[in-house]
Amino acid sequence: MKAAVFYEPGVITVRDWPDPEAAGDEVVIRVMAAGVCGTDLHIFDGAEGASECFPPVILGHEFAGVVEQVGPDVKHIRVGDHVTVDPNRGCGICPECKRGRPHFCPDMFATGVTGDGGFAQLAKAREEQVYRVGDRVPFEEAAMCEPISCCLHGIDQAKITPGDTVLVIGGGTIGLLMVQLARLSGAGTVIVSEPNEAKHATAKKAGADYCVNPLKTTPFDLIAEKGLPGIDVSIECVGRAETMLDAVTYAGRGGHVLFFGLTPPDAEIPVKPFDVFRRELTITSSFVNPHTMGRAAALVSSGKLMLADLISDRLDLADIRKAFDIRGKNGKMIVFPNGA
Ligand SMILES: [Zn+2]
Ligand SMILES: [Zn+2]
Repeated sequence: MKAAVFYEPGVITVRDWPDPEAAGDEVVIRVMAAGVCGTDLHIFDGAEGASECFPPVILGHEFAGVVEQVGPDVKHIRVGDHVTVDPNRGCGICPECKRGRPHFCPDMFATGVTGDGGFAQLAKAREEQVYRVGDRVPFEEAAMCEPISCCLHGIDQAKITPGDTVLVIGGGTIGLLMVQLARLSGAGTVIVSEPNEAKHATAKKAGADYCVNPLKTTPFDLIAEKGLPGIDVSIECVGRAETMLDAVTYAGRGGHVLFFGLTPPDAEIPVKPFDVFRRELTITSSFVNPHTMGRAAALVSSGKLMLADLISDRLDLADIRKAFDIRGKNGKMIVFPNGA
């Protein structure tokens, strides 16, 4: 098969690579679409990701395709099924896994990070990682189940209740997924803060009631102007210290703040405990996607999410190197290892 192999920071080569074989409970998938994620860019740059990476390895942890081969111990998945993969797999036996918290497993395996992933014509995963999606779901949308599952874990942590006013900071792919999940969670009003005004129309299509350009105005100004209640939930989807602080600043009384974006490990923000106390804020965060992949696959299969509009770049596997230059500036980048 053809595969994009990551050798060292800055080096990804598309080359022939041995086909994976399904042993035991393994499933081999013909990859029809694979998303390029910020984590792939981080690894390419040599920065620290959520899991350790030991090259040479085939990256790509957001992918979907058709089951090509199943191992002798596979019970539920069949050849021909349309599926996506939860890349993250706990060891199953450590104290964290036994507490039902596989994302804290010290031996977490991540398909496409610690082991070969979806930037290849074929990819392998254990049956426990494989989730069926509807046959009519476009593969490029099914490939977005993993980022959606991460957003679902975040949304669960943010505790949105029907009628809440939600501020989403950042109108990129993750921000616009959050907008939609906030809507589905019953948010009354959704505000998006995004400096690139070209993204405002898509944000509104995704369900935002209002968009603000933080270089010109603030959510406080908007709230005053429109006579809105305070912000009940603020969600940071940028990954910068300043916008993390904004998420705390703009949350209203009793508000929940979700730190979702990935900041550099040494980023710090000056938060006044008195301020948190006086407004009785809950500051929370979410790490990867424990137990949310099934819900993500169900949501994507339901067709209730606007996903195609979030995709800005569609690339052949042979051109994958371009993705690391484009860097997802305009939205989600999807690679098609077996042709579009
Ligand atoms: Zn990802
Ligand atoms: Zn474990």
